[in-house]
Amino acid sequence: MKRDATVLVVAGLDPTGGAGLAADLTVLASVGARGWPVAAALTAQGPKGVRGWSPVPVEMLLAQLDALLDGAPRAPGAVKTGMLGTAALAHALAARLAARDLARAPLVVDPVLLSSSGALLLDLADGSPADAFGPLLARARVVTPNLDELRALTGLEVGSDEAAVAAARRLGARAVLVKGGHREGAPVDLLVERRSVTRFTGRRRPGTARGTGCRLASALAGLLARGASLDEAVRGAKKVVERYLDAQARGRGGRDR
Ligand code: PLP
Repeated sequence: MKRDATVLVVAGLDPTGGAGLAADLTVLASVGARGWPVAAALTAQGPKGVRGWSPVPVEMLLAQLDALLDGAPRAPGAVKTGMLGTAALAHALAARLAARDLARAPLVVDPVLLSSSGALLLDLADGSPADAFGPLLARARVVTPNLDELRALTGLEVGSDEAAVAAARRLGARAVLVKGGHREGAPVDLLVERRSVTRFTGRRRPGTARGTGCRLASALAGLLARGASLDEAVRGAKKVVERYLDAQARGRGGRDR
């Protein structure tokens, strides 16, 4: 596995570290990769939930990327996106990812729409989630929707494995990891690729924890940047999330519990 892998992370700042950029950096360090955090949005949140958020101006997103990458010794080994806030930011980012310095980096898209407390984290005034995420999905190595996000992105029912696989294929991405954490019974994730579907069955952990989606996608990006195959990266990323859930259940998770 490659050393000194770097992942460009474009997401929202959750100052509690429960989710968003701060959580992403912790997870990347734990899989042996360094994160370059670029803020697409700031959120005001704490133990009582999300009180508000603001997207950064599009020019500021692009300025952050240009400043970070201009003169960097190496291009990042992967890119991960989380909360992007607006379609304008998602589209500007997708266009910037086509530039030479980023065009080869595998892209992991976590299509964040809502916080677990129910706050909308994507402004829907200028279009549907599919409009906002479309260009990023087309460029992604892997997209990591939960079942609600998959339903919102496609408008399709996702109640059975067959339906979820059909919906995942509609996203137009090379691979989709459909997260089953919200389904009844054992959590089963489905890795849907053009010609195959791989099932990853986990053990249900008691309780809930914030930021599991952010952590899974970041660990995936970190492992891809280190040279893992997609299958290895999914297995490794699931272990990272399982360890996090176990630590939370033991009450060792600190204030982001
Ligand atoms: N990204 C950011 C910046 C957030 O603030 C949140 C939630 O508040 C999320 C992602 C989604 O994470 P979660 O589902 O744990 O709330």
